[in-house]
Amino acid sequence: MDTFGLKIIASDRVFYEGRCEKLTIPAPDGQKGILPNHENMVIAVNVGDASLKLPGQENWVDVAVGAGFAEVVNNRVILLVDTAERPSEIDARRAEEAKERAEEQLRQKQSIQEYYMSQASLARAMNRLRVSTEGKRWNL
Ligand code: ATP
Repeated sequence: MDTFGLKIIASDRVFYEGRCEKLTIPAPDGQKGILPNHENMVIAVNVGDASLKLPGQENWVDVAVGAGFAEVVNNRVILLVDTAERPSEIDARRAEEAKERAEEQLRQKQSIQEYYMSQASLARAMNRLRVSTEGKRWNL
């Protein structure tokens, strides 16, 4: 099967660099699939679950990603996101605590800006909890 070059860059590390057969990313209007030779584009990436089908691997694997952008140029994809974690890297207790903190903040009176930050924090925590329990694991 054809492949494309994929680089997943989080703010603290290069999470993945290599070939990929298929990729789905959490775009604002739903999961978006990217296959080899996709047209060039730049799109926003939401907090969510990116899935990768890597060459030589039978199963898809999942990544919990933070917000960012994806750029596709000449059969190369760069996924530039705040954070990226494999399911096995996610500390579920930390995410549970972050979720409780955000929920508590949302119960308090907050400025609009604080409210959006709490909502974003809640979305990150809930996404980590979902990917850590349901995400398909890497055996690399
Ligand atoms: P917290 O309030 O627990 O710090 P957060 O959503 O504010 O959560 P981020 O700013 O998204 O955290 O991420 C900061 C760093 O910590 C990143 O490197 C991210 O990958 C890592 N990280 C955050 N939460 C977890 C978690 N539950 N398990 C593993 N790594 C995490």
